[in-house]
Amino acid sequence: MDSISNRILAMAPSATLAMSQKSNELKAQGVDVINLSVGEPDFHTPDHIKEAAKAAIDENFTFYTPVPGYLSLRKAICEKLRRENGVDFAPEQIVVSNGAKQSLCNCILSLINPGDEVVIPTPAWVSYVEMVKLAEGITVTVPAGVEQDFKITAAQLEEAITPKTRMVLLCSPSNPTGSVYSREELRALASVLAKYPDIIILADEIYEHINYTGEFNSISQFPEVRDRVAIVNGVSKAYAMTGWRIGFLAAPLWIAKACNKLQGQYTSGSSSIAQKAAEAAFSGPQECVETMRQAFERRRDLVVSLLGEIPGLRINHPEGAFYIFPEVSSYFGKTDGKRTIANSSDMAMYLLEEAHVATVDGAAFCAPGYIRLSYATSDDNIREAVRRIAAALAALH
Ligand code: PMP
Ligand code: GLU
Repeated sequence: MDSISNRILAMAPSATLAMSQKSNELKAQGVDVINLSVGEPDFHTPDHIKEAAKAAIDENFTFYTPVPGYLSLRKAICEKLRRENGVDFAPEQIVVSNGAKQSLCNCILSLINPGDEVVIPTPAWVSYVEMVKLAEGITVTVPAGVEQDFKITAAQLEEAITPKTRMVLLCSPSNPTGSVYSREELRALASVLAKYPDIIILADEIYEHINYTGEFNSISQFPEVRDRVAIVNGVSKAYAMTGWRIGFLAAPLWIAKACNKLQGQYTSGSSSIAQKAAEAAFSGPQECVETMRQAFERRRDLVVSLLGEIPGLRINHPEGAFYIFPEVSSYFGKTDGKRTIANSSDMAMYLLEEAHVATVDGAAFCAPGYIRLSYATSDDNIREAVRRIAAALAALH
């Protein structure tokens, strides 16, 4: 008899990946779908990084790798953290994994006991809550809507903390909202957390370089919490390397050791070739990062101006990542004559089936009432997608 574990039964599938798959299936059937669902750069990996991977094969980097990653890569990551973030880590504090996704999951599984609480500001990326569930922890959401630029206040954070809080998970620039916490906003959160020395701060900084504020701030900059921050970052977004699957955790030694132990039993070290490519990404020329950032910023401006013309959508002015998260609830209860839009799930399905634009239901990000659009695609796709969305919304009455 089929008998799936309760652990997996309780887990929701990744909505971002599911929607992207659905859109690809429709495309394969010949439907002209514009996919704004999955969040990944549409650029190719820069040539010097690809060359490093080719050289790695020829130089026989083909054996098992050390569980936390090659020492040379971990040194390059420490150098990156010093150079770009002004924080000091030793190579022993770095664990390289199969994408930032595994780094996050390693950290959560290593720290959370059943019943421990993890505070997650919402809207939040789809996988956080499911990872906490896997660890049998309890997610405590802290909602921040479009009216507060999707950013929680220090007072909200403090209110969410209980004696059971073990971790606070922060993501800036944010997926799915594009919001970026300023230095002062992070300072305010850090001064709350300074009062709770047992809470670990997991800082997801994967969108560090896709930032339009001109300045990236990390909560690890604040000495009052510095020794309790676990940073997660990687190469997927900044270097257009989603398929290479390299992310890292930079954490207090005791956390890094626990993640190393878990990974040693679970997946071992990540791909030798991808690690060599990642080393070239961190150590090589950085102009490619800025070129892609500028392209995303231009597209942000385009998407904001086009969506701004659609009545009934409420948007923020995203300052990072490549997502925008419009509130669509003013359309709830309306119909195109064939179906009624009751919620954001209906809206995402309506846009997919009628406008042939794939988005993601905000409910997957703990924010029903919104939908997420990724603008990591060409200007032409953005223009056409928004034109279709506007027409589909105009047909609702
Ligand atoms: N964190 C956030 C907020 C993300 O959007 C992503 C992208 N899926 C990840 C982590 C994981 O990135 P990856 O596993 O590709 O390094
Ligand atoms: N970060 C991307 C997204 O949110 C990739 C898909 C995923 O891993 O969820 O769409």
